[in-house]
Amino acid sequence: MDKATDERWMRMALEVARSKGSDPSTSPLGCVIVRDGQVLAAERNQTHELPDATAHAEMMAIRRACESLGDLELRNATLYSTLQPCGMCTMASIWSKVGRVVYGAGRDDVHPMYFEARHVDTLSFIAKAYRDDIVIEGGCLAEECATLYYGPDADLPEEEQANL
Ligand SMILES: [Zn+2]
Repeated sequence: MDKATDERWMRMALEVARSKGSDPSTSPLGCVIVRDGQVLAAERNQTHELPDATAHAEMMAIRRACESLGDLELRNATLYSTLQPCGMCTMASIWSKVGRVVYGAGRDDVHPMYFEARHVDTLSFIAKAYRDDIVIEGGCLAEECATLYYGPDADLPEEEQANL
């Protein structure tokens, strides 16, 4: 996949992320799943709205894509996420058989609140996964994606630091 194509889909993920506002307090995380140039799903984080602790953008997009295809496997699809997927979403990507995960902002670009207290390194996790046909790549429009989130050194009150 060429860089311009990845950036095009990441821009859509950014739009989805910003659909309910771009303030970090609104948890603007977006995910788009694409296969053969077709969008299978485009979802935003919905943890607070539902409420559902598992309703991360990637989880929602995987659910919608499987539903729309009537298939539990998303082989050869690419999952674009504005933020490096957490351990749960990385595992969901492995289970759903997506071929490729592309993310924008990485763990070091944002506040630690976005990730598990005990570090799950999604990159090495994927590298050691039982699937050898999945690829994960970061840094696609990373700076633009990072503007949606609290920065690494943001001074946040405890109550703002919910794990999303
Ligand atoms: Zn997640």
